[in-house]
Amino acid sequence: MQSTPANNPLRAIPSVDRVLRELGDCPLPKPLVAHIVRETLSQIRRDGGGELPAIMDQIRDALRQTALSRIRPVINGTGIIIHTNFGRSPLAPAAAEALCQIASSYTNLEFDLSTGQRGRRSGYLQAALSLLCNAQGAMVVNNCAAALVLILRHFAAAPPRNKVIISRGELVQIGGGFRVPEILESSGAQLKEIGTTNRTTLDDYRKAMDGDAAMILVVHRSNFFMEGFVESPAIGQIAQLARDAQIPLVHDLGSGALFETTQLGGQEHEPTPAESLAHGASLVTFSGDKLLGGPQAGIIAGQAELVKRLERDPLFRALRCDKLVLAALQATVDLHLGSQKAPILEMMDMNLEHLSARAMGIVQQLPDLPIAIGHCQSQIGGGSLPKTRLPSVCLELQPAGASLEELAQRLRMGEPPVVGRIEDDLLKLDLRTIFPHQDQDLARRLAEVFFA
Ligand SMILES: *Cc1c(COP(=O)(O)O)cnc(C)c1O
Repeated sequence: MQSTPANNPLRAIPSVDRVLRELGDCPLPKPLVAHIVRETLSQIRRDGGGELPAIMDQIRDALRQTALSRIRPVINGTGIIIHTNFGRSPLAPAAAEALCQIASSYTNLEFDLSTGQRGRRSGYLQAALSLLCNAQGAMVVNNCAAALVLILRHFAAAPPRNKVIISRGELVQIGGGFRVPEILESSGAQLKEIGTTNRTTLDDYRKAMDGDAAMILVVHRSNFFMEGFVESPAIGQIAQLARDAQIPLVHDLGSGALFETTQLGGQEHEPTPAESLAHGASLVTFSGDKLLGGPQAGIIAGQAELVKRLERDPLFRALRCDKLVLAALQATVDLHLGSQKAPILEMMDMNLEHLSARAMGIVQQLPDLPIAIGHCQSQIGGGSLPKTRLPSVCLELQPAGASLEELAQRLRMGEPPVVGRIEDDLLKLDLRTIFPHQDQDLARRLAEVFFA
C-alpha cells in the first residue's frame, strides 16, 4: 500500500521538544535525557514509526533502564555476605567517615609533614598492614589480580628465568573473568604446570626446579573444594624448596582471613597471611574487600626486600590506589588492630534470636500480606569458604497473583532496590545480609510491591 500523509506511521513520531515537554521532570541530567530521547526516536523511525502512547512508553523505558544502571545502595536479601555483584564488603562506618573527610579536603597523601618534603604514599598503611600480617613489609595495589600481575611481571617475565611453577590443581577460575592461567600469561610469564588436577606432590615441585624457574606460585582454592584422592604438599615444604633454589614462593590467599575461620562452623580453615608467611612464603597476596571487609584493594605482604623491589617497579605506578581507597583501607585496618569488627564480620556473628525479632517486627507491620517467617542458610560468598553455611532467618514471600519472577523484578526496580533469592517456590529475603537500619525501607517496599 502506498503510504499517504494520513496513514504514514512515521508522521506520528513526535519532535524531541514535544517528548521532553510530555515527560516532565526526570531524575537524570537534562542533556542525557535529551540524548536518550533522540536516540530512541531515531530507532523508532528506523523501525517504521508507531503510535504516540507506545512511543512514549518506549522512551520512558529507555530512561528507566539508564536510571537503573546508576550505582546506588541496594538491599541485599540474598544471604550472600560478600557478594561481588553488590560491591563485596560494605565499609564500616569509621571507614565511610574517613572516606568522606579525605574526599573533600587536601591531604598529606604524598607529603611528609615533619620535613615538609615529598613523602611516601601509604606509609602508615604499610606499617599497620605489616603488623596485621606479621610481615616485614606490605604494600597496596588496585586489587588482588593487580597484585599478581605486578609480582609476575617483576619476578617472572624476563627470560631465561620466566617460568612460574604452579600446580595443575590451582589453574582455576576465580569469579567472573579471573582465570589464573590467563592472568599469568598476560603478565609475560610462562607456566610450568606440574602435577595433576587432584594430586601434586613435593617431588613434582622438586623436579620442576631448574634454571628457568623464576618463582613458585601457590593459589589458595578459595571458591571450591576438592575431596577424595587429593594431595598437595604443605606450604612449609614448598617454601624449603624455594629457599634452596633462591626463588620466591608467592602464596595467593585471595580472601585474606585474619581470624580462625573454622569458628564459623563450616570446618573450613582459611590460611591467614601471618600463618602463610610463618610457614615460609616469601610474599602473600589477598583482597581488601573480601574477609578483610574493606574497599577494593590488593595487599602484598612479606619479605621487605621483595616488597621494596615491587614498589620500585614502574608498573606499580599504574596499579596504585587513590586517596579514597587508602583512607577507607586505613580505617578498616585500624578496626582490625583495635579488635573491632568490620560489618561483614558482625553479619556473620548475628544470632538467630536477633534475626527472628527483626523478622517479626517487619511482618507485624504488614499483617495482610502473604509473608511468612522461615529459616534459610546464609553463605560467605566472594569466593570465600564455599562449604560454610550460617543458619539464618528469612522473610518468605508468596507471589499472590503474579509470578515469582515478576515479584522479584518489582522488588528490584523500586527505590531502594531489594534483591532476594528464589527457592522452594518462594522469594526469600535473608535478614542476615540486610542491615537493621534498612528494615523500615524494606517494610515500605514490601507494602509497595504487594499493593501495586
Ligand atoms: C578473589 C581472588 C582473587 C582476585 O581478587 P580481586 O581482588 O578480585 O582481584 C585472586 N586470587 C584468589 C585466590 C581469590 O580468591
